[in-house]
Amino acid sequence: MKIAENDGQVLIIGGGPAGLATAIILAKRGFQNITVLEKRPSANYYEPDKSFNYLIDGRGQKLIDYIEIADKLSQNGVSSTDFYLTKVESNGNRKTLKLPIVDPNRKAAYWITRQTFVGLLYEEIQHKWHNYINIIFNSKCVGITKNSDGKEKLEKIKVTAEIDNNKLQQFQPLLLVGCDGINSIVRNTLNKWEDSLSSKFEMQYFPSPSSGLKYKILTLPPKFPLTENGDELSTSEMAYAIRSVFKDKNNSISLGLLPVKNPDEVRSANIVTKPNHHIWKLKDGKEIHNFFNQSFPQLPIQKIVSLREAERFAVSQGGEFPIPQHCNGFYSKLNDEAFIVLLGDAIHSFPPDLGQGVNSALEDVCILNETLEKSNNNLSEALPLYESSRLPDTKALIRLMQVGYPWQYNQAPLRKKLWNVNFLLRLALSKILPFAFSPPAFFLVQNHQLSYSEILAKAERTTRILYVILVFIVLVLVSSRLG
Ligand SMILES: Cc1cc2nc3c(=O)[nH]c(=O)nc-3n(C[C@H](O)[C@H](O)[C@H](O)COP(=O)(O)OP(=O)(O)OC[C@H]3O[C@@H](n4cnc5c(N)ncnc54)[C@H](O)[C@@H]3O)c2cc1C
Repeated sequence: MKIAENDGQVLIIGGGPAGLATAIILAKRGFQNITVLEKRPSANYYEPDKSFNYLIDGRGQKLIDYIEIADKLSQNGVSSTDFYLTKVESNGNRKTLKLPIVDPNRKAAYWITRQTFVGLLYEEIQHKWHNYINIIFNSKCVGITKNSDGKEKLEKIKVTAEIDNNKLQQFQPLLLVGCDGINSIVRNTLNKWEDSLSSKFEMQYFPSPSSGLKYKILTLPPKFPLTENGDELSTSEMAYAIRSVFKDKNNSISLGLLPVKNPDEVRSANIVTKPNHHIWKLKDGKEIHNFFNQSFPQLPIQKIVSLREAERFAVSQGGEFPIPQHCNGFYSKLNDEAFIVLLGDAIHSFPPDLGQGVNSALEDVCILNETLEKSNNNLSEALPLYESSRLPDTKALIRLMQVGYPWQYNQAPLRKKLWNVNFLLRLALSKILPFAFSPPAFFLVQNHQLSYSEILAKAERTTRILYVILVFIVLVLVSSRLG
């Protein structure tokens, strides 16, 4: 293969939320010649197993406001203030609830599909920044090296990308940005380059009860019928929790659907269960169809799940919720002409329990922007500052993932009940004695004015007070028995 060369100022690997948002803030800050390599064929390419919904809350909206696309988010997303959930029981009973608004003074959050959100960032680039940002789709970064070729004294970063599966192109950026997700090639390369004593770029793992759960996404048609005679159709802006007739842990499943703004958009039904569940053993579309037919007698399955979709679902790999993880190094400086920085899932990744994946990635971009602002775009100053200000919050975020709401998938009904008791206790105490007790971390993360470190400190303080009360009660009971 012939290798084409391309020297540029900034090269971003990954055109997901973190990559496109970073491209925009860098362009806004005056960086030019920014190239984004994205292995998918287009910005809003539909991948069934990645067709989940984001809830962009106040934390993520700090970046949205900065890049001035708040109007587009509200037009294309469903506001959390209008959020209704319909529970559909296996006997056909339906109950619609308006989910409580935690704090009416808090900014509305917006449900938006990943596809639509990435599409919005892409549109913004095409509209305002196309002279500064070049996005190359179908281009996969396949190798990163650092070398000085003898003539040059300073080491350079050399990135090789495979474009359209048939040609190789080489880039030599001043700044390489790794926004390439959980299996980041940029982070893995930095890890290889590090000496063996420092493991700054190696992921540290912090297990949680939801990690290892398996998921697949079933695609349903827009406005799919809820009844056999088709007289009642589903509504796009409504969330649904559809329960199966089976109640035993190996067969019971739920279809979870989050709201979408566009009434003509397909609906994604999330199925999340333990890896040994019966559904993962079904081999083809016919078996999947039979299982759904038996599981959901309340739904006209034949009309809403085509045999083709059942077949796709059966053979799709699906995915596994990752173990909460983060690395400790977010940047590397080779010399004054070669810098590397990491953002988003490339530095922290976890199950979707608290809906913080995209919000924390956008907050990383915000912090990078702030440090560039403070240092007047001086990368030697900005990148160490970015790492030192973001690392404590990243560690706190990963700890919150372990305790926030990991039992919500019904993987262990008793543990879920105990967790609910703890949750309700904290909620009630925080209302009665707000100076002593904080609301559960699940609610606190939605407050973008609190950093993840502050949220963790509040949650841990409440835990300590609860322990002291518990010990006190036990002592009183023991002494009353002895007395
Ligand atoms: C099942 C599931 C459900 C989730 N649900 C939620 C949720 O409800 N709310 C939420 O906030 N978050 C959720 N997340 C997490 C969320 O998707 C991520 O945290 C978020 O997308 C992070 O953005 P990112 O840009 O850092 O990484 P990604 O979104 O992973 O983007 C990385 C991009 O890099 C590209 N790429 C990777 N390697 C290369 C390469 N070598 N060359 C070129 N391109 C490359 C990929 O194609 C991708 O487009 C969920 C994740 C999963 C798995």
